[in-house]
Amino acid sequence: MSASIVQELLEKTAAFSLDETLVFLAGEFPGKVIFSTSFGQEDQVITDFIAKSNTDITVFTLDTGRLFQETYDVFHKTLKKYKRPIEVYFPEATSVEKLLQEKGPNSFYDSVENRKECCFIRKVVPLRKALAGNSVWITGLRAEQSENRQDLNLFEYDGNFEIIKFNPLLKWTLEEVETYLSDNNVPQNALHKQGFVSIGCAPCTRAIFPGEDIRAGRWWWESSHKECGLHSAKKE
Ligand code: SF4
Repeated sequence: MSASIVQELLEKTAAFSLDETLVFLAGEFPGKVIFSTSFGQEDQVITDFIAKSNTDITVFTLDTGRLFQETYDVFHKTLKKYKRPIEVYFPEATSVEKLLQEKGPNSFYDSVENRKECCFIRKVVPLRKALAGNSVWITGLRAEQSENRQDLNLFEYDGNFEIIKFNPLLKWTLEEVETYLSDNNVPQNALHKQGFVSIGCAPCTRAIFPGEDIRAGRWWWESSHKECGLHSAKKE
């Protein structure tokens, strides 16, 4: 069933531009199209498209409680520019309290298991809550961001969250993203100018060096595992 819907969407939108696809999806799934932003460059491109689309697509963010001040700054600027609500999902307070009481505030540096536990509490659980009841989840994934994103399609079925994913910037290059942001005067995270490309929580993100992989600055102390579970969400 889900596979046939994905195929149908791929066929029906094949000739559409991004703005036409947004309008189409909003019409096909009224009130059930949702976009997750973490205010990174790709997400800001999509926010700009959604704001201009004049649709009822919901925009939301996960406030993990550990974000950079610069991320809150671009969040604030985005609200002011587009005058459009952004829903905020925070982790369950009791889960965070228990985690910190039992393991301290920086347990994510101690082991991969601890890091995944923190991501699960602060990101995966709130994401599940945000996506519940929706039909289409728009993401800012790009194929060149990591090896395991190379085989993604424009539309995918995400079995973990039981939702159709739409990845409109899948084939965009970083240069195309940067050009769009500049040409359209879209608010950007000030950290990008300091060598940060993929920006997540403050204690788990660093700037990257020239020539390093785009996601090398995420959980840099781990040798593998450059995902937080949002796009492969299972408590491992
Ligand atoms: Fe916790 Fe770091 Fe994951 Fe943020 S990125 S939820 S601080 S482990």
